[in-house]
Amino acid sequence: MTTPTAPQSLSSIMDGNSFQARDLDTLPAAERELITRRMAALGPSYRLFYKAPVHAERAEGCYLYSPDGTRYLDAYNNVASVGHANPAVVAAVASQMSRLNTHTRYLQDGIVDYSERLLATLPAHLDTAMFTNSGSEANDLAIRVARLWTGGEGVVVTAEAYHGTTELLSRVSPAISGGFPDDPTVRVIPAPDTYRVDTEDMGAWFAARVREAFEDLQAHGITPAAFLADSIFSSDGIFPDPAGFLHPAIEVCREFGALFISDEVQPGFGRTGDTFWGFERHGIDADLVSMGKPMGNGIPVAALVGRSEILGRFGKEVPYFNTFGGNSVSIAAAAAVLTFMQDTDLRSSVASVGADLKAAISGLTADLPWVGDVRGRGLYIGVEVVRDRDTREPDSVRALELVNAMRERHVLISVAGPGNNVLKVRPPLVFGGAEVALFAERFQDALMAVERR
Ligand code: PMP
Repeated sequence: MTTPTAPQSLSSIMDGNSFQARDLDTLPAAERELITRRMAALGPSYRLFYKAPVHAERAEGCYLYSPDGTRYLDAYNNVASVGHANPAVVAAVASQMSRLNTHTRYLQDGIVDYSERLLATLPAHLDTAMFTNSGSEANDLAIRVARLWTGGEGVVVTAEAYHGTTELLSRVSPAISGGFPDDPTVRVIPAPDTYRVDTEDMGAWFAARVREAFEDLQAHGITPAAFLADSIFSSDGIFPDPAGFLHPAIEVCREFGALFISDEVQPGFGRTGDTFWGFERHGIDADLVSMGKPMGNGIPVAALVGRSEILGRFGKEVPYFNTFGGNSVSIAAAAAVLTFMQDTDLRSSVASVGADLKAAISGLTADLPWVGDVRGRGLYIGVEVVRDRDTREPDSVRALELVNAMRERHVLISVAGPGNNVLKVRPPLVFGGAEVALFAERFQDALMAVERR
């Protein structure tokens, strides 16, 4: 058996809150043995969360359970959007799986019905859907489509963006791109960091960065193809506000003939509580919309939506088939998720529960000199842990202590941002009042424990 080794290259999104092999000896024998076998079989790409990894055996609603029955409040899950083991989704998947699961080259009702319902949630000009298995595949397709449509190659992204895992996407995902050479067709701009950037007008400031990037591409003979952004800037550190600040940047994008690809893998499906799609909060139009994670509540299903002339041209010129993309079972899961969201008016609940959660976090941290900012929208909240409020210097050590103190108190959160110092609180969308109360109780206790250190 080989000896587990710590990951060599540090990536904010992968290593911000990862278990380190040096802590193996602190764990109970059963976990130690499973982790050792896991590292030997899977290798170092597979990072676990937390100083003491959580052993998950089953889950229900907003809670995970370990084999010994310990219950964890899941406040870090953008996949189990309508709750772990949601009975309606489980029933839809089981029923479809027992009848038919096949690909899109056979005529089926499900994919057509679901596409029509999905498109009805989007502005009318976004009238065509293509299905994939992951957000990465949707973004990869989006960039191929944008490059074909514009005849250009240049792509602009933010400094700590994460858009996926293919080779193409690792070149536009600075949060994780270790090991790949810089791509001459990609420009990286600073995030719209409302906590640290000194500007009265974030919209104008950010649009100026997009303009500089497109101008620089042109100066190097590269035609702009796309501005690719997640409108909540999750891996950059969570910057949703002020709503509307993306508007001038998208005008600049159009001026340069580039497409705006809205990556909705994080903010989509009602996460912000304001609108069903993140880009709508900014009062902007997207040319292409990629979506994934919460779409199937754990069943792999993702999509790229766009205008028919853009996706139509790609469809005619580039043969594209995706064996599992849009399969019968994935579509059944996605349809059940959408039905649940619409029948329960989940977005409204996200707005009110999210406001309560943010108010609770703000109240508990208001007097702590090492918490500089609490921000977020709906059920996506970021808490800046800093060395002091004047310098605003990130304090990742304390942030991780807090994440692990919460884990010890059986509440799951993590960190985001280039400094690994922004607590990321992003629970399933079915989080309710009882969960907010439990979170607040444990958070207060964890804050006190970390304050005392
Ligand atoms: N875009 C964003 C904004 C993401 O957060 C992620 C996943 N973390 C992806 C794309 C990639 O999605 P997937 O892991 O399903 O390929």
